[in-house]
Amino acid sequence: MKVITRFAPSPTGYIHIGNVRSAIYPYLLARQNDGKLILRIEDTDRKRYVEGATELIEDTLNWLGLEWDEGPIVGGPNAPYFQSERKEIYHAWARKLIEAGRAYADPTPPDVIEGYREECNKKKIPFLYRNYRPENPPEWEPGIPLRFKAEPKSYEWTDEVMGKMKSGPEVLDDIILIKKDGYPTYNFAHIVDDTEMGVNYVMRGVEYLSSTPNYLALYEALGLERPHFVSLPHILAPTGNKKLGKRDGAKSVTEYRSDGVLAEAMLNYLACLGWNDGTEQEIYTKEELIKKFSLDRIQNSGARYDEVKLLWMNGQWIRKIFTEEGAEALYERTKEFWPESAANSSDDYKIKVLSIIYDRLKTLSDLRTMTNYFFEDPRVDVDAIVNNKFIKKLSESEIESLLKTSIKKLTDLENWSADSLQDALNDLLTETKKKPAELFSLIRLCVSFAPFSPALNLTLETLGKEKSLARLNAVARSI
Ligand code: GLU
Repeated sequence: MKVITRFAPSPTGYIHIGNVRSAIYPYLLARQNDGKLILRIEDTDRKRYVEGATELIEDTLNWLGLEWDEGPIVGGPNAPYFQSERKEIYHAWARKLIEAGRAYADPTPPDVIEGYREECNKKKIPFLYRNYRPENPPEWEPGIPLRFKAEPKSYEWTDEVMGKMKSGPEVLDDIILIKKDGYPTYNFAHIVDDTEMGVNYVMRGVEYLSSTPNYLALYEALGLERPHFVSLPHILAPTGNKKLGKRDGAKSVTEYRSDGVLAEAMLNYLACLGWNDGTEQEIYTKEELIKKFSLDRIQNSGARYDEVKLLWMNGQWIRKIFTEEGAEALYERTKEFWPESAANSSDDYKIKVLSIIYDRLKTLSDLRTMTNYFFEDPRVDVDAIVNNKFIKKLSESEIESLLKTSIKKLTDLENWSADSLQDALNDLLTETKKKPAELFSLIRLCVSFAPFSPALNLTLETLGKEKSLARLNAVARSI
């Protein structure tokens, strides 16, 4: 049996972490088994539909390297892949249910239904619509909601993640199949589509687990074989006590991307959010994930979202690309993340800057805040120097003399290489009898006015002799 999975997002504009994880696992399972991943756009809730959202989904999947085998753009034998274009298909399946006596038109107005619900609330009994079925339903035609006629019975099934499951008759109800506007509900449409498209592994958020008995009833009424069900655990807020929501500090995938989180890191982090291979390994390439992924190691409890970990992983990936693919390969990824002041600098210079700073980056956009001084002269800020926690221990004349000695030493240095700079800096330490924190902080501040920079010799080497000395002199003149 060929494994056929699908990712079935709703185009509502905002792609949160959980949405993407629901694409990663079906992708991995399909690739691992030489199967097929279908992308289906579930756009029947027209109120939530957002223009451009489908393109955003496609773009995000492409960015992450999650190619789909059937779906928008690539097409396929089961087109169309937009649910809004499949109305006739759902209506045809709905008619099968009507003919089998398992669905009925329900013109009951919403306020009357609300009345039934309130009545049950008052009596403190569960509201089940099947107890209020209209006696003489009209013929169904689009424009009237269509409901399933549930038979109260028990079900058993196996969820690949949650294990053996059981449900009683009390959870089965007359769910709506087709809405008043003629579009199907998710509950009905996904079953029709998964069947028509041959999907045999239905992987989705665990929030659909409680509705599964109603889906089982539908599969049965339609005479269909059940697919494998794979419920993916909730992603929890960092506090661990509730589902991750927009307010819990998690950005959308689009925002992380524009902050300079690498696709590899995002994929790696999300794949491991709720799955592990039982080892201590944390960094996985896509190929390794395809090889190692397994349904039985998806955890059945919620997975806590941890942005610090995501950014740590991103830092690891930045280093990995630098060391395995080289500075230029990493540089190619950084193009949009440099500060404006870098616009006129050469690629070679920026590659040099990147080569000394890459191991401090958590996101690529850190380049914007961490490298400005490589491209424009910082404003001389004497206060920042004298108030620095190491320098403040020195008297004004000590600072002046330290600057003078350093400028002299560096001016005399002929070979402006990292190694000779390191030697010169070491000599300066011996000559001045100052601590590295004092002397190096002073020089660092004069050339960068940044609290941190790469190793001082590397910073000076990259800046070049002329710029470094000009900046040191500018401070010496103002102090
Ligand atoms: N359209 C549903 C959602 O975005 C998909 C659920 C499923 O994968 O079946 O939540």
